[in-house]
Amino acid sequence: MPYRPADQTGDGRAFVIDYKYSPKTRDKLTDENLLQGPLYWLAAEKAFALHTAGMYYCALRDRLEYAGWGEKPDCLEKAAVEPFTNQWLEAAVERSVRSAGEIAAGRIAPDPSDLSRCRRCEFRDVCRFEGAAIAVAEGA
Ligand code: SF4
Repeated sequence: MPYRPADQTGDGRAFVIDYKYSPKTRDKLTDENLLQGPLYWLAAEKAFALHTAGMYYCALRDRLEYAGWGEKPDCLEKAAVEPFTNQWLEAAVERSVRSAGEIAAGRIAPDPSDLSRCRRCEFRDVCRFEGAAIAVAEGA
């Protein structure tokens, strides 16, 4: 079976769904540090020449919960869906390009935007970020 980066409708619209083993997804809509949503949207358009109409996270752990951007299909009636805007996409591109440039220039120090992630991080035992151990100890 060929790889399908997104579900597609008969009229050519594409919907990207990122399945997460987590209890909720709605908090991802307001976290501007998360770039996965807009970059997946962009990848579907630029790398796969699709007409992206929606990008959604789907939490699977405790129950199904969808949240995302773009169209709100009838089947996602209870989902939290923000309208797509070019500003949302452009802001993500700007942040990604800036970060890529900084990394290419040699900035490799870890600098997490959310210390609570350190507690669940699989790399925390080898991480060079000094604040990780503190964040883990404090239950951040
Ligand atoms: S422990 Fe290190 S690698 Fe893991 S989230 Fe924290 S800063 Fe990032």
